[in-house]
Amino acid sequence: MNESMPHGMSALDRASAAPTGSGETDVAIVGAGLAGSIAAAVLGRAGYRVALIDRHAVPPAQFRVEKVVGEQVHLLDRLGLLPALAGAAKFFDEVLNVHRGRVVDRTHSPHYGIFYHDLVKVMRSQLPPSVTFVVGHAVDLNTGPQRQSLTLANGRVIESKLIILATGMNGALRHKLGVPLRVAFEKQSVSFGFNIVSASANGFEFPAMTYYGEKWADRIDYLSLFPVDNAMRANLFTFRDPHDEWIRDMRRSPKETLLGALPGLERFLGDFRIVSKVESWVMDLCTTDSCRRDGVVLIGDAFQTSCPATGMGVSRLLTDVDRLCNVHLPRWFETAGMGAAKVARFYEDPWKRAADARARHLSAYHRSLVLEPGMGWGMRRGQLNLRRRIKVRIYRLSPGLLSRVQGIMRGLRSRSAPNPVREKYSCP
Ligand SMILES: Cc1cc2nc3c(=O)[nH]c(=O)nc-3n(C[C@H](O)[C@H](O)[C@H](O)COP(=O)(O)OP(=O)(O)OC[C@H]3O[C@@H](n4cnc5c(N)ncnc54)[C@H](O)[C@@H]3O)c2cc1C
Repeated sequence: MNESMPHGMSALDRASAAPTGSGETDVAIVGAGLAGSIAAAVLGRAGYRVALIDRHAVPPAQFRVEKVVGEQVHLLDRLGLLPALAGAAKFFDEVLNVHRGRVVDRTHSPHYGIFYHDLVKVMRSQLPPSVTFVVGHAVDLNTGPQRQSLTLANGRVIESKLIILATGMNGALRHKLGVPLRVAFEKQSVSFGFNIVSASANGFEFPAMTYYGEKWADRIDYLSLFPVDNAMRANLFTFRDPHDEWIRDMRRSPKETLLGALPGLERFLGDFRIVSKVESWVMDLCTTDSCRRDGVVLIGDAFQTSCPATGMGVSRLLTDVDRLCNVHLPRWFETAGMGAAKVARFYEDPWKRAADARARHLSAYHRSLVLEPGMGWGMRRGQLNLRRRIKVRIYRLSPGLLSRVQGIMRGLRSRSAPNPVREKYSCP
Protein backbone atom coordinates (compact mmCIF):
# COMPACT_ATOMS: atom_id res chain seq x y z
CA MET A 1 0.00 0.00 0.00
CA ASN A 2 2.70 2.43 0.93
CA GLU A 3 4.17 2.28 -2.56
CA SER A 4 0.88 3.38 -4.14
CA MET A 5 0.00 5.97 -1.52
CA PRO A 6 2.47 8.72 -2.29
CA HIS A 7 1.08 9.05 -5.80
CA GLY A 8 -2.54 9.00 -4.60
CA MET A 9 -1.96 11.39 -1.75
CA SER A 10 -0.18 13.93 -3.89
CA ALA A 11 -3.14 13.78 -6.32
CA LEU A 12 -5.54 14.66 -3.51
CA ASP A 13 -3.26 17.36 -2.22
CA ARG A 14 -3.22 18.83 -5.72
CA ALA A 15 -7.00 18.62 -5.88
CA SER A 16 -7.47 20.17 -2.45
CA ALA A 17 -5.15 23.01 -3.29
CA ALA A 18 -7.08 23.77 -6.47
CA PRO A 19 -9.60 26.65 -6.62
CA THR A 20 -13.04 26.06 -5.04
CA GLY A 21 -15.09 23.57 -7.02
CA SER A 22 -12.26 21.96 -8.97
CA GLY A 23 -11.37 19.91 -5.86
CA GLU A 24 -14.48 17.76 -6.33
CA THR A 25 -13.77 14.13 -7.04
CA ASP A 26 -16.13 11.75 -8.87
CA VAL A 27 -16.62 9.25 -6.07
CA ALA A 28 -15.74 9.36 -2.37
CA ILE A 29 -15.62 5.88 -0.79
CA VAL A 30 -15.74 5.76 3.00
CA GLY A 31 -14.15 2.55 4.30
CA ALA A 32 -11.15 0.77 2.76
CA GLY A 33 -11.98 -2.72 4.03
CA LEU A 34 -12.53 -5.40 1.41
CA ALA A 35 -15.63 -3.86 -0.20
CA GLY A 36 -14.33 -0.27 -0.36
CA SER A 37 -10.83 -1.21 -1.54
CA ILE A 38 -12.12 -3.43 -4.34
CA ALA A 39 -14.69 -0.83 -5.41
CA ALA A 40 -11.94 1.82 -5.52
CA ALA A 41 -9.65 -0.43 -7.57
CA VAL A 42 -12.41 -1.23 -10.09
CA LEU A 43 -13.59 2.40 -10.45
CA GLY A 44 -10.03 3.74 -10.55
CA ARG A 45 -9.13 1.33 -13.33
CA ALA A 46 -12.22 2.48 -15.24
CA GLY A 47 -10.87 6.06 -15.10
CA TYR A 48 -13.00 7.62 -12.33
CA ARG A 49 -11.36 10.02 -9.86
CA VAL A 50 -11.84 8.33 -6.51
CA ALA A 51 -11.06 9.37 -2.93
CA LEU A 52 -10.83 6.29 -0.69
CA ILE A 53 -11.01 7.18 2.99
CA ASP A 54 -10.20 4.97 5.97
CA ARG A 55 -9.27 5.51 9.61
CA HIS A 56 -6.41 3.05 9.26
CA ALA A 57 -3.41 3.63 7.00
CA VAL A 58 -2.61 -0.07 7.42
CA PRO A 59 -5.49 -2.54 7.86
CA PRO A 60 -5.49 -3.86 11.46
CA ALA A 61 -5.47 -7.61 12.16
CA GLN A 62 -9.06 -8.67 12.74
CA PHE A 63 -11.02 -11.91 12.55
CA ARG A 64 -13.05 -11.89 9.34
CA VAL A 65 -13.08 -14.01 6.18
CA GLU A 66 -9.83 -15.98 5.83
CA LYS A 67 -10.38 -17.97 2.67
CA VAL A 68 -11.70 -17.09 -0.76
CA VAL A 69 -13.54 -19.91 -2.51
CA GLY A 70 -16.21 -20.91 -5.06
CA GLU A 71 -18.12 -18.10 -6.78
CA GLN A 72 -15.89 -15.58 -4.93
CA VAL A 73 -12.95 -16.79 -7.03
CA HIS A 74 -14.92 -16.28 -10.26
CA LEU A 75 -16.15 -12.85 -9.18
CA LEU A 76 -12.64 -11.69 -8.24
CA ASP A 77 -11.43 -12.97 -11.60
CA ARG A 78 -14.19 -11.00 -13.36
CA LEU A 79 -13.10 -7.89 -11.47
CA GLY A 80 -9.49 -8.45 -12.61
CA LEU A 81 -8.15 -8.95 -9.08
CA LEU A 82 -7.57 -12.70 -8.89
CA PRO A 83 -3.89 -12.59 -9.98
CA ALA A 84 -3.11 -10.20 -7.11
CA LEU A 85 -4.80 -12.51 -4.61
CA ALA A 86 -3.10 -15.58 -6.09
CA GLY A 87 0.28 -13.90 -5.63
CA ALA A 88 -0.25 -13.38 -1.90
CA ALA A 89 -2.47 -16.23 -0.66
CA LYS A 90 -1.94 -19.95 0.04
CA PHE A 91 -3.54 -21.89 -2.79
CA PHE A 92 -5.10 -25.32 -2.18
CA ASP A 93 -7.63 -27.29 -4.19
CA GLU A 94 -8.39 -30.36 -2.14
CA VAL A 95 -10.54 -30.54 0.98
CA LEU A 96 -11.02 -33.66 3.06
CA ASN A 97 -14.60 -33.79 4.40
CA VAL A 98 -14.99 -35.71 7.64
CA HIS A 99 -17.96 -36.66 9.80
CA ARG A 100 -17.74 -38.51 13.14
CA GLY A 101 -14.13 -39.50 12.54
CA ARG A 102 -14.75 -40.94 9.06
CA VAL A 103 -13.85 -39.52 5.66
CA VAL A 104 -17.02 -38.61 3.75
CA ASP A 105 -15.22 -37.57 0.57
CA ARG A 106 -12.57 -35.29 -0.90
CA THR A 107 -13.77 -32.25 -2.83
CA HIS A 108 -11.74 -30.30 -5.36
CA SER A 109 -11.97 -26.59 -6.22
CA PRO A 110 -9.63 -23.60 -6.01
CA HIS A 111 -9.30 -22.04 -2.53
CA TYR A 112 -7.10 -19.15 -1.38
CA GLY A 113 -6.21 -18.95 2.34
CA ILE A 114 -5.19 -15.48 3.57
CA PHE A 115 -5.59 -13.41 6.75
CA TYR A 116 -8.12 -10.59 6.37
CA HIS A 117 -5.68 -7.71 6.88
CA ASP A 118 -3.40 -9.23 4.21
CA LEU A 119 -6.36 -9.65 1.85
CA VAL A 120 -7.28 -5.98 2.28
CA LYS A 121 -3.63 -4.96 1.84
CA VAL A 122 -3.49 -6.89 -1.45
CA MET A 123 -6.60 -5.11 -2.73
CA ARG A 124 -5.30 -1.72 -1.63
CA SER A 125 -2.04 -2.46 -3.48
CA GLN A 126 -4.10 -2.61 -6.69
CA LEU A 127 -5.29 1.00 -6.51
CA PRO A 128 -4.32 2.90 -9.65
CA PRO A 129 -3.07 6.53 -9.55
CA SER A 130 -6.59 7.89 -10.15
CA VAL A 131 -7.47 6.71 -6.61
CA THR A 132 -6.43 8.92 -3.74
CA PHE A 133 -6.07 7.17 -0.41
CA VAL A 134 -6.92 9.45 2.50
CA VAL A 135 -6.20 8.38 6.07
CA GLY A 136 -8.94 9.96 8.15
CA HIS A 137 -12.08 9.42 10.17
CA ALA A 138 -15.21 10.54 8.32
CA VAL A 139 -17.50 12.09 10.94
CA ASP A 140 -20.21 13.80 8.93
CA LEU A 141 -21.75 13.87 5.48
CA ASN A 142 -24.03 16.18 3.54
CA THR A 143 -25.83 14.68 0.60
CA GLY A 144 -28.08 16.03 -2.14
CA PRO A 145 -29.21 15.40 -5.71
CA GLN A 146 -26.15 17.21 -7.16
CA ARG A 147 -23.16 17.35 -4.82
CA GLN A 148 -22.00 15.49 -1.74
CA SER A 149 -19.54 16.46 0.95
CA LEU A 150 -17.78 14.47 3.64
CA THR A 151 -16.19 15.98 6.71
CA LEU A 152 -13.24 14.28 8.34
CA ALA A 153 -12.38 14.50 12.05
CA ASN A 154 -9.51 16.89 11.25
CA GLY A 155 -11.95 19.31 9.60
CA ARG A 156 -10.99 18.47 6.02
CA VAL A 157 -13.93 18.42 3.57
CA ILE A 158 -14.03 16.12 0.53
CA GLU A 159 -16.55 16.90 -2.18
CA SER A 160 -17.81 14.40 -4.70
CA LYS A 161 -20.66 13.54 -7.07
CA LEU A 162 -21.37 10.29 -5.22
CA ILE A 163 -20.52 8.80 -1.83
CA ILE A 164 -20.14 5.04 -1.41
CA LEU A 165 -20.48 3.93 2.22
CA ALA A 166 -18.39 0.79 2.74
CA THR A 167 -18.02 1.26 6.48
CA GLY A 168 -18.73 -2.36 7.46
CA MET A 169 -20.57 -2.82 10.75
CA ASN A 170 -19.64 0.64 12.02
CA GLY A 171 -22.94 2.51 12.28
CA ALA A 172 -22.00 6.15 12.97
CA LEU A 173 -22.26 7.57 9.44
CA ARG A 174 -25.33 5.49 8.64
CA HIS A 175 -27.04 7.02 11.68
CA LYS A 176 -26.15 10.51 10.44
CA LEU A 177 -27.77 9.56 7.15
CA GLY A 178 -30.86 8.22 8.92
CA VAL A 179 -30.41 4.64 7.68
CA PRO A 180 -29.36 2.57 10.70
CA LEU A 181 -28.68 -1.15 10.32
CA ARG A 182 -31.66 -3.08 11.67
CA VAL A 183 -30.69 -6.06 13.83
CA ALA A 184 -32.63 -8.93 12.28
CA PHE A 185 -31.09 -11.60 14.52
CA GLU A 186 -29.05 -10.73 17.58
CA LYS A 187 -26.16 -13.06 18.50
CA GLN A 188 -27.01 -15.40 15.64
CA SER A 189 -23.72 -17.34 15.80
CA VAL A 190 -20.35 -17.55 17.53
CA SER A 191 -17.22 -18.18 15.45
CA PHE A 192 -13.67 -18.94 16.57
CA GLY A 193 -10.36 -18.53 14.75
CA PHE A 194 -6.95 -19.87 15.79
CA ASN A 195 -3.74 -21.40 14.43
CA ILE A 196 -2.62 -24.97 15.06
CA VAL A 197 0.64 -26.84 14.42
CA SER A 198 1.27 -30.56 14.31
CA ALA A 199 3.74 -32.11 16.75
CA SER A 200 4.82 -34.42 13.94
CA ALA A 201 7.83 -33.38 11.86
CA ASN A 202 5.80 -34.24 8.73
CA GLY A 203 3.02 -31.83 9.65
CA PHE A 204 -0.66 -32.59 9.05
CA GLU A 205 -1.51 -35.29 6.52
CA PHE A 206 -4.24 -33.33 4.74
CA PRO A 207 -4.12 -30.10 2.71
CA ALA A 208 -7.38 -28.80 4.21
CA MET A 209 -10.32 -30.30 6.07
CA THR A 210 -13.98 -29.67 6.86
CA TYR A 211 -15.02 -31.50 10.01
CA TYR A 212 -18.80 -31.46 10.59
CA GLY A 213 -20.40 -31.21 14.04
CA GLU A 214 -20.84 -34.67 15.57
CA LYS A 215 -23.89 -34.35 17.81
CA TRP A 216 -26.97 -32.17 17.65
CA ALA A 217 -26.51 -31.10 21.30
CA ASP A 218 -23.08 -29.57 20.50
CA ARG A 219 -24.60 -26.94 18.21
CA ILE A 220 -21.51 -26.95 16.01
CA ASP A 221 -21.93 -26.40 12.28
CA TYR A 222 -18.39 -27.26 11.20
CA LEU A 223 -14.69 -26.76 11.75
CA SER A 224 -12.67 -25.65 8.74
CA LEU A 225 -8.90 -26.26 8.71
CA PHE A 226 -6.87 -24.70 5.92
CA PRO A 227 -3.41 -23.28 5.22
CA VAL A 228 -2.81 -19.55 5.70
CA ASP A 229 0.59 -17.89 5.64
CA ASN A 230 2.82 -20.35 7.55
CA ALA A 231 0.10 -21.84 9.71
CA MET A 232 -2.83 -24.22 9.64
CA ARG A 233 -5.80 -22.00 10.44
CA ALA A 234 -8.92 -23.23 12.22
CA ASN A 235 -12.33 -21.57 11.80
CA LEU A 236 -14.99 -23.06 14.05
CA PHE A 237 -18.61 -22.07 13.41
CA THR A 238 -21.17 -22.64 16.17
CA PHE A 239 -24.73 -21.59 16.99
CA ARG A 240 -24.28 -21.53 20.75
CA ASP A 241 -25.40 -18.84 23.14
CA PRO A 242 -22.41 -16.49 23.65
CA HIS A 243 -22.93 -16.73 27.46
CA ASP A 244 -22.85 -20.52 27.38
CA GLU A 245 -20.24 -22.18 29.65
CA TRP A 246 -18.91 -24.08 26.60
CA ILE A 247 -18.00 -20.80 24.90
CA ARG A 248 -16.01 -19.75 27.99
CA ASP A 249 -14.31 -23.16 28.04
CA MET A 250 -13.46 -22.79 24.37
CA ARG A 251 -11.67 -19.53 25.16
CA ARG A 252 -9.98 -20.88 28.33
CA SER A 253 -8.90 -24.38 27.21
CA PRO A 254 -9.62 -24.59 23.49
CA LYS A 255 -7.87 -27.87 22.65
CA GLU A 256 -9.62 -29.94 25.32
CA THR A 257 -12.99 -28.28 24.63
CA LEU A 258 -12.66 -28.83 20.87
CA LEU A 259 -11.69 -32.49 21.21
CA GLY A 260 -14.43 -32.99 23.80
CA ALA A 261 -17.05 -31.92 21.23
CA LEU A 262 -15.36 -33.47 18.18
CA PRO A 263 -13.59 -36.59 19.52
CA GLY A 264 -13.14 -38.11 16.04
CA LEU A 265 -10.92 -35.17 15.12
CA GLU A 266 -7.96 -36.50 17.08
CA ARG A 267 -7.42 -39.33 14.58
CA PHE A 268 -6.79 -36.78 11.84
CA LEU A 269 -4.86 -34.15 13.78
CA GLY A 270 -2.66 -36.44 15.87
CA ASP A 271 -0.77 -34.53 18.52
CA PHE A 272 -1.17 -30.81 17.88
CA ARG A 273 -0.85 -27.45 19.62
CA ILE A 274 -2.85 -24.24 19.38
CA VAL A 275 -0.21 -21.59 18.80
CA SER A 276 -2.17 -18.36 18.53
CA LYS A 277 -4.70 -16.38 20.48
CA VAL A 278 -8.18 -17.89 20.14
CA GLU A 279 -10.19 -15.13 18.49
CA SER A 280 -13.96 -15.19 18.67
CA TRP A 281 -16.78 -13.24 17.10
CA VAL A 282 -20.45 -13.01 18.03
CA MET A 283 -22.39 -12.13 14.90
CA ASP A 284 -25.55 -10.03 14.82
CA LEU A 285 -27.36 -10.42 11.51
CA CYS A 286 -28.23 -6.92 10.34
CA THR A 287 -29.90 -5.46 7.31
CA THR A 288 -30.82 -2.02 5.98
CA ASP A 289 -34.49 -1.36 5.30
CA SER A 290 -34.77 1.92 3.50
CA CYS A 291 -31.56 3.39 2.20
CA ARG A 292 -32.73 5.33 -0.84
CA ARG A 293 -31.01 8.67 -0.43
CA ASP A 294 -29.73 11.31 -2.81
CA GLY A 295 -26.05 10.92 -3.63
CA VAL A 296 -25.09 7.98 -1.40
CA VAL A 297 -25.04 4.21 -1.81
CA LEU A 298 -24.26 1.43 0.72
CA ILE A 299 -22.30 -1.75 -0.08
CA GLY A 300 -20.87 -4.82 1.68
CA ASP A 301 -21.46 -5.21 5.42
CA ALA A 302 -22.61 -1.59 5.57
CA PHE A 303 -25.74 -2.80 3.75
CA GLN A 304 -26.19 -6.28 5.25
CA THR A 305 -24.19 -8.72 7.36
CA SER A 306 -24.12 -12.51 6.85
CA CYS A 307 -23.63 -15.59 9.00
CA PRO A 308 -19.88 -16.41 8.74
CA ALA A 309 -20.59 -20.17 8.35
CA THR A 310 -22.36 -19.59 5.03
CA GLY A 311 -19.34 -17.96 3.35
CA MET A 312 -21.74 -15.41 1.82
CA GLY A 313 -20.17 -12.18 3.17
CA VAL A 314 -17.60 -11.93 0.39
CA SER A 315 -19.93 -13.29 -2.32
CA ARG A 316 -22.39 -10.54 -1.44
CA LEU A 317 -19.84 -7.74 -1.34
CA LEU A 318 -18.26 -8.82 -4.64
CA THR A 319 -21.71 -8.91 -6.24
CA ASP A 320 -22.35 -5.40 -4.86
CA VAL A 321 -19.09 -4.10 -6.30
CA ASP A 322 -19.56 -5.81 -9.65
CA ARG A 323 -23.13 -4.59 -10.16
CA LEU A 324 -22.53 -1.08 -8.79
CA CYS A 325 -19.20 -0.31 -10.44
CA ASN A 326 -19.61 -2.15 -13.74
CA VAL A 327 -23.31 -1.62 -14.44
CA HIS A 328 -25.11 1.12 -12.48
CA LEU A 329 -22.53 3.77 -11.67
CA PRO A 330 -21.37 4.19 -15.30
CA ARG A 331 -25.04 4.80 -16.29
CA TRP A 332 -25.55 7.32 -13.45
CA PHE A 333 -22.54 9.32 -14.60
CA GLU A 334 -23.90 9.55 -18.15
CA THR A 335 -26.44 12.17 -17.03
CA ALA A 336 -26.29 15.03 -14.56
CA GLY A 337 -27.36 14.63 -10.94
CA MET A 338 -27.34 11.81 -8.41
CA GLY A 339 -30.92 11.76 -7.10
CA ALA A 340 -32.38 8.98 -4.95
CA ALA A 341 -34.35 7.51 -7.90
CA LYS A 342 -31.07 6.87 -9.76
CA VAL A 343 -29.37 5.38 -6.73
CA ALA A 344 -32.37 3.12 -6.00
CA ARG A 345 -31.68 1.16 -9.20
CA PHE A 346 -28.70 -0.44 -7.48
CA TYR A 347 -30.85 -1.71 -4.59
CA GLU A 348 -33.39 -3.03 -7.11
CA ASP A 349 -30.73 -4.85 -9.13
CA PRO A 350 -31.90 -8.50 -9.48
CA TRP A 351 -28.38 -9.90 -9.06
CA LYS A 352 -27.79 -7.92 -5.89
CA ARG A 353 -31.20 -8.81 -4.48
CA ALA A 354 -30.63 -12.49 -5.27
CA ALA A 355 -27.24 -12.51 -3.51
CA ASP A 356 -28.67 -10.72 -0.44
CA ALA A 357 -31.69 -13.04 -0.30
CA ARG A 358 -29.52 -16.12 -0.70
CA ALA A 359 -27.27 -14.95 2.15
CA ARG A 360 -30.32 -14.45 4.39
CA HIS A 361 -31.77 -17.81 3.40
CA LEU A 362 -28.51 -19.69 4.01
CA SER A 363 -27.96 -17.92 7.36
CA ALA A 364 -31.36 -19.16 8.56
CA TYR A 365 -30.92 -22.60 6.97
CA HIS A 366 -27.50 -23.32 8.55
CA ARG A 367 -28.75 -22.31 11.99
CA SER A 368 -31.98 -24.31 11.74
CA LEU A 369 -30.20 -27.40 10.42
CA VAL A 370 -27.85 -27.35 13.39
CA LEU A 371 -30.33 -26.27 16.07
CA GLU A 372 -34.02 -26.79 15.37
CA PRO A 373 -35.61 -29.56 17.45
CA GLY A 374 -38.77 -30.07 15.31
CA MET A 375 -39.46 -33.28 13.37
CA GLY A 376 -38.94 -31.67 9.96
CA TRP A 377 -35.44 -30.46 10.80
CA GLY A 378 -34.70 -33.74 12.56
CA MET A 379 -35.56 -35.55 9.31
CA ARG A 380 -33.38 -33.21 7.29
CA ARG A 381 -30.45 -33.88 9.66
CA GLY A 382 -31.19 -37.63 9.43
CA GLN A 383 -31.16 -37.49 5.61
CA LEU A 384 -27.91 -35.55 5.60
CA ASN A 385 -26.26 -38.02 7.97
CA LEU A 386 -27.54 -40.95 5.89
CA ARG A 387 -26.12 -39.37 2.73
CA ARG A 388 -22.80 -38.90 4.54
CA ARG A 389 -22.78 -42.52 5.74
CA ILE A 390 -23.47 -43.79 2.20
CA LYS A 391 -20.65 -41.61 0.91
CA VAL A 392 -18.30 -42.96 3.59
CA ARG A 393 -19.07 -46.55 2.43
CA ILE A 394 -18.57 -45.77 -1.26
CA TYR A 395 -15.41 -43.75 -0.48
CA ARG A 396 -13.98 -46.76 1.40
CA LEU A 397 -14.69 -49.02 -1.57
CA SER A 398 -13.19 -46.59 -4.08
CA PRO A 399 -12.65 -42.80 -3.87
CA GLY A 400 -12.75 -42.65 -7.69
CA LEU A 401 -16.15 -44.37 -7.76
CA LEU A 402 -17.54 -41.80 -5.29
CA SER A 403 -16.43 -38.89 -7.54
CA ARG A 404 -18.10 -40.57 -10.52
CA VAL A 405 -21.33 -41.20 -8.58
CA GLN A 406 -21.32 -37.57 -7.35
CA GLY A 407 -20.83 -36.33 -10.92
CA ILE A 408 -23.81 -38.42 -12.13
CA MET A 409 -25.99 -37.25 -9.20
CA ARG A 410 -25.13 -33.61 -9.91
CA GLY A 411 -26.10 -34.09 -13.55
CA LEU A 412 -29.43 -35.74 -12.60
CA ARG A 413 -30.22 -33.05 -10.01
CA SER A 414 -29.60 -30.22 -12.42
CA ARG A 415 -31.94 -31.86 -14.97
CA SER A 416 -34.79 -33.06 -12.81
CA ALA A 417 -34.76 -31.36 -9.41
CA PRO A 418 -32.95 -28.01 -9.55
CA ASN A 419 -31.40 -26.73 -6.33
CA PRO A 420 -34.28 -24.89 -4.62
CA VAL A 421 -32.01 -22.25 -3.10
CA ARG A 422 -30.23 -21.52 -6.35
CA GLU A 423 -33.51 -21.56 -8.26
CA LYS A 424 -35.32 -19.32 -5.83
CA TYR A 425 -32.62 -16.68 -5.94
CA SER A 426 -31.33 -17.13 -9.48
CA CYS A 427 -31.24 -14.12 -11.75
CA PRO A 428 -32.52 -13.35 -15.20
C1 LIG B 1 -15.58 -13.95 12.24
C2 LIG B 1 -15.99 -13.74 10.82
C3 LIG B 1 -15.73 -14.74 9.88
C4 LIG B 1 -16.13 -14.55 8.56
N1 LIG B 1 -15.89 -15.55 7.66
C5 LIG B 1 -16.31 -15.40 6.39
C6 LIG B 1 -16.08 -16.43 5.44
O1 LIG B 1 -15.50 -17.48 5.74
N2 LIG B 1 -16.50 -16.22 4.16
C7 LIG B 1 -17.12 -15.05 3.78
O2 LIG B 1 -17.47 -14.89 2.62
N3 LIG B 1 -17.35 -14.05 4.67
C8 LIG B 1 -16.95 -14.20 5.96
N4 LIG B 1 -17.16 -13.18 6.84
C9 LIG B 1 -17.77 -11.91 6.37
C10 LIG B 1 -16.74 -10.98 5.72
O3 LIG B 1 -15.55 -10.97 6.47
C11 LIG B 1 -17.33 -9.57 5.63
O4 LIG B 1 -18.51 -9.66 4.87
C12 LIG B 1 -16.38 -8.57 4.97
O5 LIG B 1 -15.16 -8.52 5.64
C13 LIG B 1 -17.03 -7.18 4.95
O6 LIG B 1 -16.15 -6.25 4.37
P1 LIG B 1 -16.52 -4.70 4.32
O7 LIG B 1 -15.49 -4.06 3.49
O8 LIG B 1 -17.95 -4.52 3.96
O9 LIG B 1 -16.39 -4.20 5.84
P2 LIG B 1 -15.05 -4.01 6.73
O10 LIG B 1 -14.01 -4.98 6.36
O11 LIG B 1 -15.52 -3.99 8.15
O12 LIG B 1 -14.51 -2.57 6.31
C14 LIG B 1 -15.01 -1.39 6.82
C15 LIG B 1 -13.93 -0.33 6.77
O13 LIG B 1 -14.50 0.95 7.01
C16 LIG B 1 -13.63 1.70 7.83
N5 LIG B 1 -14.47 2.71 8.47
C17 LIG B 1 -15.64 2.51 9.14
N6 LIG B 1 -16.16 3.69 9.51
C18 LIG B 1 -15.33 4.66 9.06
C19 LIG B 1 -15.36 6.08 9.13
N7 LIG B 1 -16.35 6.73 9.70
N8 LIG B 1 -14.32 6.76 8.56
C20 LIG B 1 -13.30 6.11 7.95
N9 LIG B 1 -13.24 4.76 7.87
C21 LIG B 1 -14.24 4.05 8.40
C22 LIG B 1 -13.01 0.67 8.78
O14 LIG B 1 -11.78 1.12 9.30
C23 LIG B 1 -12.85 -0.53 7.85
O15 LIG B 1 -11.59 -0.54 7.23
C24 LIG B 1 -16.78 -13.35 8.18
C25 LIG B 1 -17.05 -12.35 9.12
C26 LIG B 1 -16.67 -12.53 10.42
C27 LIG B 1 -16.94 -11.45 11.44
